[in-house]
Amino acid sequence: MKILIVEDEPKTGDYLQQGLAESGFVVDLARNGVDGLHLAVTGDHDLLVLDVMLPGLNGWQVLETLRRSGKEIPVLFLTARDQVEDRVRGLELGADDYLVKPFAFSEFLARVRTLLRRGRSGMESTALRAADLELDLLRRRVVRGGQRIDLTAKEFALLELLMRRQGEVLPRSLIASQVWDMNFDSDTNVIEVAMRRLRAKVDDAFEPKLIRTVRGMGYVLEAP
Ligand code: CA
Repeated sequence: MKILIVEDEPKTGDYLQQGLAESGFVVDLARNGVDGLHLAVTGDHDLLVLDVMLPGLNGWQVLETLRRSGKEIPVLFLTARDQVEDRVRGLELGADDYLVKPFAFSEFLARVRTLLRRGRSGMESTALRAADLELDLLRRRVVRGGQRIDLTAKEFALLELLMRRQGEVLPRSLIASQVWDMNFDSDTNVIEVAMRRLRAKVDDAFEPKLIRTVRGMGYVLEAP
């Protein structure tokens, strides 16, 4: 899952970026509205975290332009001003949620996860399933055949991507950009290593095998 943060306050931006990265997300950070809008329009982010008071374009202008361009990405507004009209304006423009600064990171992370679960369709689901494998997005737990499986943040992110796009062959380049912040030409050994570890935990002791390597193309997760 890839998140774009648009925040001009260096400390806040760095803090949110680091916290989200440690929680297994790939994070882009823009320091002003113009760069933020450009990244939001051209990028493939799953969520936009948008500060209201920004140099260049403010958060409202970014959101308005983004919605007019037809981009359906969920938006979490960060506002320093605890005023009702600010929230109303943000929600009217199509923000999905807002947080008033200052806020605790744990609350921020909870909002982020809720918005990502709801996704682009507006439907909220808290679990992904394939055969007897279940990934609980709310509690960040993975269970297969009734057995709890411990995953690292990256392994969880990798499995979540595979399960969200079940039956689809995911090229290494896509996995690299969505789970790690890497380009296609980067060393893809890191993906193979993580995939091997994930399969050892999720597939080795179970039948049927769910994750397959598609030679020369990438990986797919599907229940046969
Ligand atoms: Ca600001």
